[in-house]
Amino acid sequence: MRLDRLLGQHPTWGRQQIKAMLAQREVLVDHQVVTDGTLDINQFQTVTARNETLQQGKPAIYLMMNKPTGWLSATSDPVHTTVMELLPVELRKELHIAGRLDRASSGLLILTNDGLWSRRLTDPDLQKAKVYHVTTGNLIAPDTRQRFAEGIYFPYENITTSPAQLEQLSDKEARLTIYEGRYHQIKRMFGRFRNPVTGLHRESMGDITLDECLAPGEFRHLSAAEIASV
Ligand code: URA
Repeated sequence: MRLDRLLGQHPTWGRQQIKAMLAQREVLVDHQVVTDGTLDINQFQTVTARNETLQQGKPAIYLMMNKPTGWLSATSDPVHTTVMELLPVELRKELHIAGRLDRASSGLLILTNDGLWSRRLTDPDLQKAKVYHVTTGNLIAPDTRQRFAEGIYFPYENITTSPAQLEQLSDKEARLTIYEGRYHQIKRMFGRFRNPVTGLHRESMGDITLDECLAPGEFRHLSAAEIASV
């Protein structure tokens, strides 16, 4: 919501008074003076004016987890255990997953209550790199790297995947960088070569890399630098 509209919700302040308060540097957003009433305010920011709190920002939560295989990337499920059950109850509220992993996949999973932030990480148009360690059932065909770099056509969505980089590590292992997060994207890309993916581990998303100190199932809060990188 715009700052001037938020201030306008005060029971006694009129439009002229709000303009004057802004000009006289009496409005604070997160303890900083703001004079521009058109500024967009989000739910995590605290707004005060003339010693009254108009909005108490709610705490923003940003977590990284080392997702173990076998756990579902979902907030609830009637059948399977979900990654939420790996978090303390007081942290689970209102969190969502920024870029799911399949149940059999492991590695970097990011959970947050900040929808605008998570959209910046996952929006395919913003082309944030996602890096995976892939293990395959069959030998990786010689033309895989080239075909992935050209993009793979998915008829169901009628899209061609963004150019992806494949670095072959061994006959059946590769590091793959992709820029979207389509449904079963990597399995479907290798499926084009009739090569089943037998192991998939996400190493990084954008500039956020899975912390080596986290054992499968463990999590930590993101650092200020990691949050600001998105
Ligand atoms: N691609 C897949 O096929 N599965 C994942 O979990 C992530 C990317």
